Amino acid sequence: MKENALTTKQRIDFLQWMLPIALALLSILYQLILARWVHDNYSETAHFIVEILFYALVGPVIVFFAFYQIQQWLLAKEQAEQVARTSQQRLAAITEASADAIIGLTPEGRIESWNRGVELVLGYTGESITNLLFSSLLGNKENSDVEWNWIAETVKKSGFIRGYETSCQREDGKLVSVEVTATHMRDEQGASTGFSIILRDIDERKKREAEIRELNSHLNDLVEKRTRELDEKVEELANANERLKKLDQTRSEFVSLVSHQIRAPLTNIKGAVEKMEADLEVIPTVHVPLLGIVDQQVERLDRLVRDVLNTNQIETGKLVLQKEPVSIMPIIEQSIEQILTRKQDRKIVFAAKTGFPLVYADSDRVLEILANLFDNAAKYSPPESETQVGVRATQSEVFVSIRDSGKGIPERDIPRIFEKFYRSDSSDSQIAYGYGLGLYICRQLVEAMGGKIWAENHPTGGAVFTFSLPIWQENYEQS
Ligand code: ADP
Repeated sequence: MKENALTTKQRIDFLQWMLPIALALLSILYQLILARWVHDNYSETAHFIVEILFYALVGPVIVFFAFYQIQQWLLAKEQAEQVARTSQQRLAAITEASADAIIGLTPEGRIESWNRGVELVLGYTGESITNLLFSSLLGNKENSDVEWNWIAETVKKSGFIRGYETSCQREDGKLVSVEVTATHMRDEQGASTGFSIILRDIDERKKREAEIRELNSHLNDLVEKRTRELDEKVEELANANERLKKLDQTRSEFVSLVSHQIRAPLTNIKGAVEKMEADLEVIPTVHVPLLGIVDQQVERLDRLVRDVLNTNQIETGKLVLQKEPVSIMPIIEQSIEQILTRKQDRKIVFAAKTGFPLVYADSDRVLEILANLFDNAAKYSPPESETQVGVRATQSEVFVSIRDSGKGIPERDIPRIFEKFYRSDSSDSQIAYGYGLGLYICRQLVEAMGGKIWAENHPTGGAVFTFSLPIWQENYEQS
């Protein structure tokens, strides 16, 4: 309903005054204009008929329509009141069923009406709450007047308060935490008719919040404790790591020192035996194999010391490569020469070819790789058997393969033989002297030179070891 629309009473009042005035005016106008005109221009009979018609019809018709209009207004009012009553009943039912306490206050703050929620939230039953000052329900007794005045003033100024948390005292004296929603109520003229207060019990929520806070603080403590413990562990680990590093360094220095110290006497023994063999004109037959044993054992020891030194260098990152553009053929030939000097019973088949591009590698290291592979070929194939060497090249790499005539490598060992200290448990490997470092060093050296190494069994027998080295390109030396 628009605020400036007239009320039904005002309309009827208006009609009550306007109708007689309108009828009087109409009668006067009729007498002054129409009656006079008919009288002057027509006969007396016509005048008489017009007069009867005017008074008999106009008056009743106007009165009829006036009453009809009044009836319409009353009907509309009744319908509007009916609608208002229904929505009020609905609102009252909702309010009554609400679990929140809904309280109506007089302008002075006294409790006038309330719903069943008051019993749930504040424990008041029956009429005991009627007329109490709302301020007397507030939990903080010392401050309740100040608090109520603040609520009332704020609500008057801004129309409402929402989400204000405080405490109220239940009828049994216990305190309950509540969330207050307050509204100022005014009549149509704007005069204060009181306040509506909604109290929501937030005790449970508060308890949960407190529990969550406690849990949070407990978790924080725990996290802090664990972080401290972790920090301590990290520090311990860092210290242990530092100690290990030092230990490792000492070990590596020790290994390097001992290995170098062993190499010198070995070289001397080897030299002495060779001199003895050369100088003695006749070597007693029983001593020939003994000298051979000394020679072989010295060589083994020398190989072991070299492998240990290489491994040490690789693992401490001290492996230094003297890479340069070199031809692979002379290196292979030199290596074959060396192995044949040591193992005269070997048969090495190598058809030297020309036309291979230079590789970018450290020739001493390539010699070491080849020595290891030739030694293995000799160790894992029958004496006098053949070892074949092949070389091929692609646009970017040169491949060298060494194929022996042994039993080959057990398939399950192929993926592991390049691991440090890995030795196959096949009978051949168990008999052959070794310590599982040779292929490990080969792989480290090949990879350090930018190549690859792998092993496979040849379809017609024997193991094949292949390694690749990159072909020298102009820009290698800068990189
Ligand atoms: P070592 O020969 O000292 O045991 P290696 O690292 O040179 O150590 O070789 C690792 C293992 O690979 C050997 O124990 C052996 O089982 C296998 N192996 C190496 N070369 C051959 C080969 N030519 N034929 C068969 N098995 C081989």
